[in-house]
Amino acid sequence: MNRKYTHLFFDLDNTLWDFNRNSRQAISETFLYFNLQECGSDFDEFFRTYSKHNDLLWAKYRKKEIHKNELKRQRFQKTFDDLNIEGIDAVEMNDHYLGVMPLQAILVEGALDVLSVLKKRNYRLFVITNGFSEVQHKKMENSGLASFFEKVFISEEVRAPKPGREIFDYAITSTNAKKTKSLMIGDDWDVDVMGAVSNGINAIYFNPEFIKNYTKNGIGGVVNGIPVINKLNELLNILQ
Ligand SMILES: [Mg+2]
Repeated sequence: MNRKYTHLFFDLDNTLWDFNRNSRQAISETFLYFNLQECGSDFDEFFRTYSKHNDLLWAKYRKKEIHKNELKRQRFQKTFDDLNIEGIDAVEMNDHYLGVMPLQAILVEGALDVLSVLKKRNYRLFVITNGFSEVQHKKMENSGLASFFEKVFISEEVRAPKPGREIFDYAITSTNAKKTKSLMIGDDWDVDVMGAVSNGINAIYFNPEFIKNYTKNGIGGVVNGIPVINKLNELLNILQ
């Protein structure tokens, strides 16, 4: 069969592995481990503050404005500073969090079913993810995702994060793919979708939260030539 695509490249966090729910769970376990509730801290407020700083620091890390170790320390230290928490070492808290986080195994709805059907349909499956090597591999192993993928491209290993072109070029070359036969699927419009498209690779925007910025009402369809899906199983209609 002459298919449009042969090689499918998936983002990991919040496309297959439910980062939002898993990281909340891991922060919650870490919060309890350090007895922060006994210091009068409120978990929801802690998580909101941490998430804000983590997102900002990741944006800086992608632009190479800060080092990995600073990101890891500052996301907790800035949270402590905002909430007047004293006496806890930010690096220790980060280490604990990174220990429990990849043990979480909540997947995005439909992930395993969709991957197993795509594999039966003989698509070649790969992951391109921004993240830390040891963490991303563990997440995939512990959640049952690893066996579906031939190769996993992690920004820390490739030394270049999405949306830059290097990681896409590296993935295409290492898999003997043709750009025209390759498809990127991800939940981040700028990082996954625009990263791929600006490098000559077609993309599907996975928009489970119905974010409205890029799509009319956030609902699926085709926006500026990019297919938008709200559930992973819609992939099975597009990729016969
Ligand atoms: Mg993502």
